[in-house]
Amino acid sequence: MTGPSDLAAPADVTAGATADVAARATAGFRSRYAAEPAGRWAAPGRVNLIGEHTDYNDGYVLPFALPLRTVVAAATREDESWTVCSELDDDPVEFGPDAADEPGRVTGWAAYVAGVVWALRDAGYAVPGARLAIASDVPLGSGLSSSAALEAAVLAALVDLGGLDLPAEKQPRLAQRAENRYVGAPTGIMDQSAAIRCRAGHALFLDCRDESVEHIPFDLDDAGLAVLVVDSRAPHRHADGEYAARRRSCERAAAALGVPALRDVAVADLDAALDRLPDDETRRRVRHVVTEDQRVLDTAALLRAGRVREIGPLLTASHASMRDDFEITVPEIDTAVEAALAAGSLGARMTGGGFGGCVLALVDAGRADAVADAVRDAYAERGFTAPGTVTVLPAAGATRLG
Ligand code: ADP
Ligand code: MG
Repeated sequence: MTGPSDLAAPADVTAGATADVAARATAGFRSRYAAEPAGRWAAPGRVNLIGEHTDYNDGYVLPFALPLRTVVAAATREDESWTVCSELDDDPVEFGPDAADEPGRVTGWAAYVAGVVWALRDAGYAVPGARLAIASDVPLGSGLSSSAALEAAVLAALVDLGGLDLPAEKQPRLAQRAENRYVGAPTGIMDQSAAIRCRAGHALFLDCRDESVEHIPFDLDDAGLAVLVVDSRAPHRHADGEYAARRRSCERAAAALGVPALRDVAVADLDAALDRLPDDETRRRVRHVVTEDQRVLDTAALLRAGRVREIGPLLTASHASMRDDFEITVPEIDTAVEAALAAGSLGARMTGGGFGGCVLALVDAGRADAVADAVRDAYAERGFTAPGTVTVLPAAGATRLG
């Protein structure tokens, strides 16, 4: 989903590997406020390993955190107001309790920060006034969830600085409210859950119906594997309208089948359910969601059993389902997946809501560069804008850096 996107150039996905984002946040704080921060808090971007468009159908998702992070350097102040600056904007934004208490008053990128202050205050917490400086390696608007990384880092900072009694398991819901209600972007709970709750070397199995989570070992390093993330750089074509259309179609199908959500259709009953649906398009939409839920469960089972290499075909099947049944891929994305598979990936798929965004490929660690080269060559052949690429291992969720 798109939020207010008022910042020009997105960071390059390849930048994260080298730049010292924590040092940049500290430097930003010092130069803006001529003072030392009390601490620095980091939260990661994420990719969804598998489980696309399952969240609003009450189903399952399996994200993991990236080693690309947003860092907030912060300190409290005497008065009850908040000033925030980002390395991506020359102008700091300042707001007081009046603006914080009225969703929509602070606009643009700082709305994500004001939204966190609003959500905390709305839940009855005494939020300390603070100065904050933000730096990030998470590219904006590429589907790696820079918005949730920002919310999670700010939330961690304010909770810590204020000594607020808000355990990690309750933080995703609050950060989600900030984005839904203050910023006005209708996202599910996955992004914030990943940014806050992920663990290094693990994927986060999330049941979107009851919001229960399980940390499942996803030790790529141990298995000699890595995930290559490709930022497709495809322009987001009609993404919001198409997302809404898919959602409506799923809700109508659930109503027609007499179930609360498509999650309640078991794979074993799929054919019978499809027979009861009115048209081919709806049948394909339902088939994607029901089989995708099963693929998440199958992936989770393989990971629990330590059979990491074997998840590849599930990833590739997920992509085919998104391309053919849910119809949410675009030529750049399909090109990246095909090139990654042809170059020897164990599996590859689009990740995120579709119509652009990123692709992930499971690769033997030693093959990651060759696969990235193959994707770039395939892009060049078709005249697409060069993709961004980065090789990742599952990283930790939000944390204080000191
Ligand atoms: P995504 O979450 O996929 O990156 P969104 O559109 O949901 O895309 O969120 C991107 C928006 O989040 C940006 O347009 C900006 O408003 C805000 N944002 C994210 N990271 C930063 C940052 N480091 N500094 C300022 N704003 C940021
Ligand atoms: Mg987002």
